[in-house]
Amino acid sequence: MNYEQKFKYGESEINVCVEFGKRKHLSLIVYPDLRVVVRVPLKSQKDKIESIIRKKLRWINNKINYFNELEPIFPPSEFISGETHYFLGKPYQLKIRSSERTEIQIIDDFIEIKLSNTDDKKKIEKMLTKWYKSRARELLYQRTEKYLPVFLKIGAAKPEIKFRKMKSRWGSCSKRNIITLNTELIKAPFYCSDYVVVHELCHLIHLSHCRKFYSLLQNKMPDWKIRKKQLEKIVLR
Ligand SMILES: [Zn+2]
Repeated sequence: MNYEQKFKYGESEINVCVEFGKRKHLSLIVYPDLRVVVRVPLKSQKDKIESIIRKKLRWINNKINYFNELEPIFPPSEFISGETHYFLGKPYQLKIRSSERTEIQIIDDFIEIKLSNTDDKKKIEKMLTKWYKSRARELLYQRTEKYLPVFLKIGAAKPEIKFRKMKSRWGSCSKRNIITLNTELIKAPFYCSDYVVVHELCHLIHLSHCRKFYSLLQNKMPDWKIRKKQLEKIVLR
């Protein structure tokens, strides 16, 4: 009986879960993880619920924006010493050092960046982005190699793996068996990025999110829902 309904508000699309239960009044909650849940009395009519939600869309949208701007796990960066940056789910402190040699490496809990002009934030940002990308290419590729064999066994074609920094999605799989992974995934723990890898590998067998797709995913990674939830807390920016 419970259902989900999408509403348009300006540029944004708001997904609302409607849940029926033994209660007298309607309640509307926007959670910090951006879920919107409307709980209604058992005998409520769908069009009535819809019209109440429509009247509240502005409020809902404001709430979503509010939560959205609250302490993202990957905050906007200034690229200065002491700032926290994540790698494989672990926080590291930036250490910017003046040196004739340009290099970047992890030493203990630090990401150490050496360059001649330590005030050149653009250059620091570029170096860091490039470093994340190269780590993603190497390490996420290894993760796909790890999970691929069981999919080849059930008839998947060997995919081409591409990497790209994306703003709105963690991964995708095309009809031509090209899997694209978001290089930003390297900031998350393998526990989370593996979910994206396995999700995309499942698309080699079932292209759409059909029931068979989910039962395959469930079979290959029984705890995928927990991994997905954890990943969703990581804000894409
Ligand atoms: Zn998918």
